[in-house]
Amino acid sequence: MRKRSFFGLTKPSFHYELATSTIADPVAIPTPETVTLYIKQALKRTSSSLKVDTPVKTGQRLVVNEGDDICAISSATGTICAIAPFLADFGREWTAVTIKTEGSDTPDTEFSEARQAPSLKTLNRYLAACPGEPEIEPLMDERNPVHTIVIYGGNADLLIDTSLYLFKQSAEAINAGIEILRKATGIEDIVIVIPEESVQNYSGHLDARMQPVSSQYPYAQPLMVLHQLTGRLPDEKGMASMGVHFIRAEAVATIGQAFSTGSLPVEKTVAVIDKQGTKHLARARVGTPVSSLLNTFDVQVNDQDKIVFGGPMTGNAIYSEDQPIRPDTDAILVQDKRVIPLYSDYPCINCGDCVRICPANVPVNLLVRFLEAGQYTEGADLYDLYSCIECGLCSYVCVSRIPIYQYIKLAKYEIGRITSAEELNEQ
Ligand code: SF4
Ligand code: SF4
Repeated sequence: MRKRSFFGLTKPSFHYELATSTIADPVAIPTPETVTLYIKQALKRTSSSLKVDTPVKTGQRLVVNEGDDICAISSATGTICAIAPFLADFGREWTAVTIKTEGSDTPDTEFSEARQAPSLKTLNRYLAACPGEPEIEPLMDERNPVHTIVIYGGNADLLIDTSLYLFKQSAEAINAGIEILRKATGIEDIVIVIPEESVQNYSGHLDARMQPVSSQYPYAQPLMVLHQLTGRLPDEKGMASMGVHFIRAEAVATIGQAFSTGSLPVEKTVAVIDKQGTKHLARARVGTPVSSLLNTFDVQVNDQDKIVFGGPMTGNAIYSEDQPIRPDTDAILVQDKRVIPLYSDYPCINCGDCVRICPANVPVNLLVRFLEAGQYTEGADLYDLYSCIECGLCSYVCVSRIPIYQYIKLAKYEIGRITSAEELNEQ
């Protein structure tokens, strides 16, 4: 696999959002009539645990089969009114559970009792599907021991400042979460990544080593940060094989809040960015339909407009306002059909713009030819797929409007899937 050194960005140049102090506090979105939650597991005919008309409590684990670790956390009290298969990104099969909500919350008490033992098993069982989606499984993998936990406090994309807002509001919960993580893992080296302009605001307030990053896009992308910290990027075995584990600041705050209060958090802060680029902050239960947030801020969505979960560079389009916000939804971006850069089936004209903009010096124009043909392994071996830090700048500048970033994500997903299956077979 060819490897090249990183070099500085060329134009155009973008900056992450920083001005969190100018944002109003989030608008509270009322509990909707229904919430829909996803269990990241396929629905099977033999599923024994989920039944329509079953009452559920707020904070209750919902599983496809008794004994499963993978779950959704009910974000409201009510009755299950629909259970259906859901096809997620890359063809992943999930189960969608819709709950008709009641007017008030009856808290489930299972976690309150389990929190007395803050082990990784407890964290994985109860917290992994909560806001911020704390990913705990890699910390339990004895074959790839983790020595450093990186708390990611930067913003995941342009226009979004939810993460920095949370960081500002939740320092106490984040400290409580860090303490729990230290107890459960025994890992002392915990690093907080934050834009360099914000470091002085938190220095001394947070119980971890601070790692400032540039506010120029894409220097705060997780893979870019990983490269800055270790001088390396993960291969097909993923980040865990490097002994480093990334966890979002929101996820750490969720852990801290859950163990401090005894209740699993079920609400999220989400930025809504309308067609004019105006930002609104909302606080809503996981599972709330996107339409509830858009209606609150009078955002009209017309035929052929686009709704995106995330930001303009790396976000994923969704096809319906009825889709629910998920535990990892930071932002909802609405684009007018007149400004949407449509993807095309034009071939690459070898203009070289993608190569010039790429901060990781990937030969994108050559790589994309293999990825378009589904030759993922060849792309990885010959043209530096794993040097890509997933910033989306190549797609942004491509004159042929080739969805390069999406091809790259798909290729990494497919290779990772095959590698995991091979490892399982070898065991
Ligand atoms: S997404 Fe494109 S521009 Fe960004 S690092 Fe990867 S190949 Fe380079
Ligand atoms: S920017 Fe698009 S058209 Fe130009 S070389 Fe890259 S892939 Fe080809």
